[in-house]
Amino acid sequence: MGKFIFVTGGVVSSLGKGIAAASIGKLLESRGLRTALIKCDPYLNVDPGTMNPYQHGEVYVTDDGAEADLDLGHYERFTNAQVNKDSNITTGKIYYTVITKERRGDYLGKTVQIIPHITDEIKRCIKKVSKDHDIDVTIVEIGGTVGDIESLPFLEAIRQLRWELGEHYALNIHVTLLPFIKSAGEHKTKPTQHSVGRLREIGIAPDILLCRTEKSITKEQREKIALFCNVDREAVIEAADVKHIYEVPLSFKREGLDDLILKKLNIKREDKDLKEWSELVVQRLKNPKKEVRIFVVGKYIALPDAYKSIYEALVHGGIASNARVNIIKIDSEQLEKGKVEKKLAGAQGILIPGGFGDRGVEGKMKAVQFARENKIPYFGICLGMQVATIEFARNICHLKDANSTEFDKDAKEPVISLLEEQEHVKNLGATMRLGAYPCKVSKKSLSFQAYKKDSISERHRHRYEFNNKYRKLFEKQGMVFTGLNSQQDLVEIIELVDHPWFVACQFHPEFKSKPDRAHPLFRDFVAAALEYSVSTQAKKCCAPAETEAAIQS
Ligand code: GLN
Repeated sequence: MGKFIFVTGGVVSSLGKGIAAASIGKLLESRGLRTALIKCDPYLNVDPGTMNPYQHGEVYVTDDGAEADLDLGHYERFTNAQVNKDSNITTGKIYYTVITKERRGDYLGKTVQIIPHITDEIKRCIKKVSKDHDIDVTIVEIGGTVGDIESLPFLEAIRQLRWELGEHYALNIHVTLLPFIKSAGEHKTKPTQHSVGRLREIGIAPDILLCRTEKSITKEQREKIALFCNVDREAVIEAADVKHIYEVPLSFKREGLDDLILKKLNIKREDKDLKEWSELVVQRLKNPKKEVRIFVVGKYIALPDAYKSIYEALVHGGIASNARVNIIKIDSEQLEKGKVEKKLAGAQGILIPGGFGDRGVEGKMKAVQFARENKIPYFGICLGMQVATIEFARNICHLKDANSTEFDKDAKEPVISLLEEQEHVKNLGATMRLGAYPCKVSKKSLSFQAYKKDSISERHRHRYEFNNKYRKLFEKQGMVFTGLNSQQDLVEIIELVDHPWFVACQFHPEFKSKPDRAHPLFRDFVAAALEYSVSTQAKKCCAPAETEAAIQS
């Protein structure tokens, strides 16, 4: 079995533990180590699939069909580590397994308890990832903040693991905050001291502190933190705010974090720089040559995390074109009232992401119509493909009653409907069409131009499908079905003949985009938007105040 790094967080939530864990993964990979990343979530849901995006942010989907925490998205974007069903461990999942075993009688008459049964199951799940994939270093991020009641079993499990494995086999890294107090003009170390104190009370002594700060900290402050938190001086790592998340691995490298980890884990590897990452990602983000304005029309736009992978994939598309992507977030419900041309004025590309339920759907329909009629590049993802279909049915094919049976059970023209196998589904958890499915791409299409191959595999998370009954009619009117799942004869990608770039897919390409390898469809969508901006010199943006660069969100 390989070695382990446990990442905990203290003082406050939202310190960027996920990005820190992903950046550590990136650094270790750059030193030639095989890494895996695991996220432990202390909530009782078995997975986040049943949670509202406002509760949880986006639900990330893996190839093997897990509905998982969005931190897995950071892991995949920063590293080449494989994430799968085993990469996200929740309290719900652990209890489910233990209670199932208890019902089966596996515990042979014993009293089943949090310690050892729950903690043993947590340890088994963590070790499994390392063993199954022959991993050198497994990075385990513990969700929540030290001091929470609900994360205690996870912390006890990693305490035991560290003890069992011994000094050079496991490492505790604590991500903490040094708040800057303006009136005092300095960073304060007390919350960090308390947080480390809390960890020590439960038997965990951090080996390395990642100190989140607004500004640089002084040598004296580092000494003070080291002394009062009982860590080596060199183990106090400054994690100052950076403009772009993709700079974090570079800032950790400057602090010598990779050398320190290797030393503490007693691993010898040649030093490697992050030149490629720096040149292909960070430098391009910092010095874009062009700018483009993409409107994202959704119903969860108030929460940046709700469409995390979409925003990131757009940034990646920008990196590929050396362009800064300014994302204008539009609330689809707002589009239902008032003039759409006013609200979408200045759009150089329009994207409609996935979603559930009928709130705001008619607004999305208006946005598609606007993009279609004005020949503005359009990218529809999952629900964004379904609304594009409905809009086309209503306004081009004259099926004014066209709808999805998700929004109107008895729709007269159900252009989007449930497959037979979905009709009898009762439970909501993990019952959608989930994970990777193959798709055949037709040669003469924008999609083929993007992918440059005719066999692709993309991740899914939906119940409803294009209703094949309407295929012929739509084709006659100028819709092309350029991506198909041949086994089940399902529509995967649609395009329009009479439009410069109108592509919508039933799957979620955003989950496979990386900063240095933008997803082909995002890359080409951003490029089409740039082309559109040049050809029209679209009027200056008069969009609402939430105009915001994706890279800042
Ligand atoms: N609600 C739609 C369905 O279930 C779309 C889902 C999505 O956009 N992820 O098919």
